[in-house]
Amino acid sequence: MRTVLKGAWVATAMTAAFVTAAGTASAATTDVVTATATGAGTRSFALTIDDGPSPTWTNQVLDLLKEREVKATFCVIGDHARQYPDLIRRIVDEGHSLCNHSMHHVNPTTQSPDQQRADIQEASDAIHAAAPGASIDFYRAPEGGWTEDAKQYAASQGMQPIGWSVDTEDWRRPGADAIFENYKRAFQGGGVILMHDGSQENDRSQSVEAMGRILEDLSNNGYYDDRPAVLG
Ligand SMILES: [Zn+2]
Repeated sequence: MRTVLKGAWVATAMTAAFVTAAGTASAATTDVVTATATGAGTRSFALTIDDGPSPTWTNQVLDLLKEREVKATFCVIGDHARQYPDLIRRIVDEGHSLCNHSMHHVNPTTQSPDQQRADIQEASDAIHAAAPGASIDFYRAPEGGWTEDAKQYAASQGMQPIGWSVDTEDWRRPGADAIFENYKRAFQGGGVILMHDGSQENDRSQSVEAMGRILEDLSNNGYYDDRPAVLG
């Protein structure tokens, strides 16, 4: 299901509409979304995968998602999009969603407003250089360093800020069992799950193994894949 929820979410939100190259209207708000489009309390989930793409891990994740027929949202770093444009194209070709996760993974709270805007724009440009015309529907601040400037600029570019409701803490590499338990403890229907497929220098084999078990568990319990909500 890909319906857009409206309601309390947008009550105080600044809404920014824009028109994509394809001519379809799109909009986003400055709210940091932590639920799926279908909504909290439903039997949906949104899997978000950060810090790639990286050849080894992103390809393994994409293979796994294809096998399980699950669509995810990839929060990619501009530097990596530039390095591995073919992986951006594979993400798009296989029907997954794109999320701007900054150019160099610098926390926006450490940047001036101009730097934040330039950083976000540079990352979108890098993604579009790899996949011209691809829709980038989401923005996620590195390290959760949300600022009003970053949220407003993302929304003005049609990117909904997204957070998460389930931190698997896979980036700490605590072992696949611990990653799975972190998911199991925190997940509730309609949740947004945070995992990682980058960077190349970091071994993400635990993330890939745990992701397979998480997706199997979600499927066994009747949950279906969705995207984070786009408001506005
Ligand atoms: Zn990150």
